[in-house]
Formats: sequence, C-alpha cells, structure tokens
Amino acid sequence: MTAKLSLQAALADPAQLSVTWELVPGRGAREKAQEHLVRMAELAAKDARINAVTITDNPGGKSAITAYAMAVEAKRLGIDPLVHFTTKDKNRNALESELYALDRAGIENLLVMTGDYPVKGYAGNAKPVFDFDAVHALRLIVKMNDSAYTKLAPTHFFAGGVVSPFKSTEGETMAQYYKLHKKIVNGARFIITQLGYDARKFDELKKYVAISNLTVPLIGNIFILSLPVARLMNKNLIPGCVVTDSLVARLEEEAAHSNKRELQLERAAKQYAVLKGLQYEGVNIGGHGLDYNDVQYIMEKGEELSANWQDIAAAEFNYPQAGGFYFFEQDAATGLNTCQPVDRRQTGRGSSSLKQSMMDMVHEAAFDQKAPLYPVNKAVARYIDKSWLKKPFTLAEYTTKTITNECRFCGDCAMHELGFICPMSQCPKQQRNGACGGSRDGWCEVYPGKQKCIYVQMYENFKRHGKEERMKEKYMPPCNWDLHRTSSWLNYFNDRDYNNNKD
Ligand code: SF4
Repeated sequence: MTAKLSLQAALADPAQLSVTWELVPGRGAREKAQEHLVRMAELAAKDARINAVTITDNPGGKSAITAYAMAVEAKRLGIDPLVHFTTKDKNRNALESELYALDRAGIENLLVMTGDYPVKGYAGNAKPVFDFDAVHALRLIVKMNDSAYTKLAPTHFFAGGVVSPFKSTEGETMAQYYKLHKKIVNGARFIITQLGYDARKFDELKKYVAISNLTVPLIGNIFILSLPVARLMNKNLIPGCVVTDSLVARLEEEAAHSNKRELQLERAAKQYAVLKGLQYEGVNIGGHGLDYNDVQYIMEKGEELSANWQDIAAAEFNYPQAGGFYFFEQDAATGLNTCQPVDRRQTGRGSSSLKQSMMDMVHEAAFDQKAPLYPVNKAVARYIDKSWLKKPFTLAEYTTKTITNECRFCGDCAMHELGFICPMSQCPKQQRNGACGGSRDGWCEVYPGKQKCIYVQMYENFKRHGKEERMKEKYMPPCNWDLHRTSSWLNYFNDRDYNNNKD
C-alpha cells in the first residue's frame, strides 16, 4: 500500500489527484455530529488516498463547535485536517490568537474564507464582525509564516482560498476572478471551488488560471446532492451554491426511484471523473450524512469512469444558468471552452452616474497627489489638524459623506479606490478586496433582489472608463480602528490613513 501524502505533497504531485473529505462538526459537544466526525476521521486516517479531512467553520453563519476542537481530534487520530478559517465572527486579534493555537496543535492546512453572513444565535442575530476579509487573513498568515510581523518563531501554515466560477453575470464572474488574483498574490497556495454542476464552468476556471499565469493547484468541489438540499440551493438559501432548475427537475425524476441514493453517489463519482479529466489537482468530497463507504465508492467508481470523462461532462454536467456569462467562447466539439476569451468590449458596463462623475472630478482636482490643488489642500489640512477647526471640519466631512454614501465614520476612507462605493456602509461583509462568494445573479448575498453586490456595481462603473482591471491589482489594507470617528480627509493629507499602513 502506498504511503499517505500530505495535502501539500499530493497537490504538488502531477501523478496524484488529491482527495479531501469534508466533515461538518455540527452544533453541540457530545452529539451525533461530533461522534460521526470522529468515527469518519478514524477511517479516513487508514485510507492512503484521503489526504485530509476538511472541517467546516460555522457554515451558514450558524454556531457550531469550533473547527479547531474537531481538527485537534482528527489530527490525534492520524489524519491531517484542512480547517476552514473564516473571518466573519472574529476580529484580527482573535484570528491571530486562533492561528497560534492551530500552529501549536501542529495543524497546517487552512482554507481561508470570509464566511457566510452570521444569522440567528442566542437572544437574536449575532453581530457580524468582518474586521478582515479573506485577503487580509491570507496576508497575515504569510507574515506569521516568515516571522516578519510577529518576530516570533515562524508558523507553518499551508493556506488556500475559494473561488466561484459559477456566477451568472459578467460583473460577478469577473469580480470573482479579480479577487482570485489578489488571493494568490497575497498567499493562497491552493484554491477550492464553490459548489456547482456545470462542467463548462469548471473548465473555464482551469483555463482562466492557465492564461493568467496563476500557478496554483485547483481543487474541485464535489457535493452529494439530495433533492431537499438541491431545492434550498436552487432558491439561493445556501449562499454561493448553484443548482439550476433543470438539475432540480432531474433530481425530482430520480426521487421516484428506489435507488436514488445510488444515483446521487454515482453523480458524485462522475463529477470526480470529470474533474480528473479536466486536470484538477484535487477534489473535495462533501455531502450530508456521507459515510466512509460512500467516499470509497466515489473514489473507486470515479477512477473507473475517468477514461470516459468528456462524454460524462457533456451528458451529465451540462447545467448552464439561463443567459449565463462564460469567459471563453464555447468549443462546439466538446461543449466546454476554447482558449479564446469572449469579446467583452461592449458588455457589462454600467450607465453613467452624475454622482460618480462629480466625485471623480473632485478627487482628480483636489485629492490625487498629482492634482493641482493637492499641495494647497495638504498645507490647509496640516493647519486644521492642529487648530480648533478640527472638530467642525470632521463633522462637516461626516455629514457630507453621510448624505452621499451613508458614511460609517471609519476615518480610513478608501472609497476613491473602490469606484466611490463605500464597503463599510454598502457591503454587509465590509469587503475591501473584492466580492465574497455569496452573490447570486448580481445581487448581494444578504439583500437578494434588493441591492446589487457592490463589486458588481464597481466592475460596471470601472468598465465604463476601461479601468476594471484595477480591481485585481490594488491591495486594500484593513481599516485601522485607531482612526474611527476621525476625519479621513485630515488623516489622508496628514499621512495617517491606510496609504501609510506598512502591512
Ligand atoms: S455586497 Fe457583494 S461582497 Fe458584500 S456581502 Fe454583498 S455579495 Fe458579498
């Protein structure tokens, strides 16, 4: 029997398809979910083909036992955990504390995400934290790994991120891909896809990474889909997971069969075969109530079917979203993609907004370092900063920005970098480096049908001026809360804002 490889080694080995198995810790400490996780981890430890068990962190924004606690148990049982490390519930100091605990426990694999918006907890809805986004957390991990920030013994994390190619609009898709660049540049060493069942989209991501020279291993997500869960995903009740009407209809037909569970597992095995055929470096297998025997079947049947992957892709994973955007032209022969990007020159632009144009003009005249008024404004700001005018000036700025952008008084304003859309007031997750994975059809995860995702708006606005590529380039540091309730204009001209953040 071959020796079990670490996830990192398996992803680096071109002869291997790495396998991770997703286990959900569940709510409680001594309940069925935790006992199931321990039993399955024990079995996974004995199977050399399974490189790690993935352990989720409060999925759906609901409370559960910490991923850390169950990861320590899995590690003790002999299997490496891949811990979901989300930023939704903890501020930066709590994140750092957890990283020390994980490092001390010898846990290296982290899947870094922003996470689902928190929902109901004890005595009401939980407070959303979102002090960091996933890019900030990845960057912190890099700095802890090389001791640059902590000046302590280096940590040993192998951290990755998530991307969703399964978005229906151009703006959403490009926002995902632009953030992918930032994740990789800032430390993601592997990428796992969100849930979806469209082979052309899996192929699109693989080709996008290749043409963008992003050298990163990709792990495709395989989720065993039951009809009730498919209906929830179809109704957008599980953020970021895409199941089309036609796939739900297929599952409804299957529901009448006595062997529906076998059909679900067979679909997963076929997805394994397709991902292997597309040359993904790994698969992540998950699903409600999944047993070791199920995972074993998926791996074995998937290997058996993999020679025939192209026919399977065309016949079984052809679930495009109505009018959905694809980055590449379709390959008529395979139904997948050519390497030719679609012509986006005339698509995906927003309509011109007066507010936007005026803010651009003000910025270019007064705030930009090359602006004619910049030196004068800097001198005035220096004077105001030390005078009695500081308080009324601050209040005037706050009032103006409250009218134009529902200002939250963070004092570290980055709006001009973000198309004059404020992530603190307009994005429920306060994302400063790109879209989270939860949007659907261009709408925000938290306000579906009511508010467009700010990164879709931003893409459309930037595209009008041919500047959309900047969404993948500029890293935005986290807010410095030392500046909270101060004037961001004075902070900017007096060199105290995020531009001076040495992070
Ligand atoms: S605005 Fe976009 S990035 Fe922010 S929470 Fe909504 S979907 Fe996510």
